Formats: sequence, structure tokens, C-alpha cells
Amino acid sequence: MRWQIIDSLLSGACQDISFIADQIRIAGFLYRAVVDALRNPRHRIHITIDPSVEDKALGGEYIPLPPNSNRLIFPFAKLDGNVETLASRCEAVVHECTHACIDYTKDRVLGSEEEVASWFADALFRRGQGLPIGGDLDFRKNFRVLADDARESNVRGKTFRVPETALGALEADFVHVHSKRDKTSQKAACGWVTGSNSAYR
Ligand SMILES: [Zn+2]
Repeated sequence: MRWQIIDSLLSGACQDISFIADQIRIAGFLYRAVVDALRNPRHRIHITIDPSVEDKALGGEYIPLPPNSNRLIFPFAKLDGNVETLASRCEAVVHECTHACIDYTKDRVLGSEEEVASWFADALFRRGQGLPIGGDLDFRKNFRVLADDARESNVRGKTFRVPETALGALEADFVHVHSKRDKTSQKAACGWVTGSNSAYR
């Protein structure tokens, strides 16, 4: 799984990501810090498989600070399955690793901004892989349109800036509903939501 995560982060779809959402800049090369941490023999990023994450309707979690320092938690042990299962697992990986990227850049950002940035990164990853961005809630439509625009910029080597109005709408639609705050870190402990019972897919 560790090596599958590394492969996903080094894939073109992830390395091509380049956008600015408010105070947060996400670029493909930033994932290399996460890759290095994952490759490090002392496992500077821990990976935990915990199926109960799914009971919380989360696709994964990233815990930034001690006592569970730098820990990625996923409810699955492998990146496999049919196309949709594989896509949503990879998406969860990119989402949580985007939280890790932001953690590594040490920027002080609001949990809600971080959540939108992580969510947009995983939508862009799907877009980069040519996979559909599913769901029919309004914010998903927004993401689809924004992801198309961003992908166009990115393949031309440009950084996409998420328009402020879109950011406001996304935060209002999505983040305030489900993002949770980690009490110690004041960062989003993560609210990447998945599963057919969820209101978000
Ligand atoms: Zn998240």
C-alpha cells in the first residue's frame, strides 16, 4: 500500500496539479515531500488501515500531530477494485496526502480552506486521470467546471487560481457541513466523505 500511494503521488495526474485556492498553493512537486516521508525507512508518515473510518463516512483521515504523528488512515489495505472503487481509493489517497502537503509547507491556514484545497486536488486528480467527477449536488457541479478550467491551465503549464466567488460558494456548500477540527492542531482532522450512504456521493 505504501508503494501504491507513492506511485499515485508520482503519477502524471497528481504531478500536473497546480492551483491556488485563497492562501493555499498546491503543486505536483509538493507531493514529493510526502513521497520522501513515505519512502523514509523510519516511516516519517505512518499508514494505518482502519475499516472503522468508513463507519464515520470518511474516505480517509490525516492526523498531523502527536501522539499519532503524521498518520494517514484508510479503511482499505490496497489500491485495487473495479474502476470506480480504485478511483475513489486513489482520490482518498490524494485528498489525505494533500493535507500532508499543506502540513509540510507549514503554512497556517484555516481548516475550511485546507479542506476545500484538498478536495479540489482530489477532483483534479480524477480529472487528470480522465475519470468522471460523480455526484449531483451543486458543489460537485462547481467542482466539475472548475476542474475542467484548472486542467486546461495545468496542461498548458499554468497555475490555476480558484476564483474567490467559487471558493466562497464551495466553503459554504461543503466544508462547513462536514469538516471536523482536530482539537490539538486546529486543523481539519479530515472530512473526506465517501460511500453510497453519504450525502456527498
Ligand atoms: Zn480532508
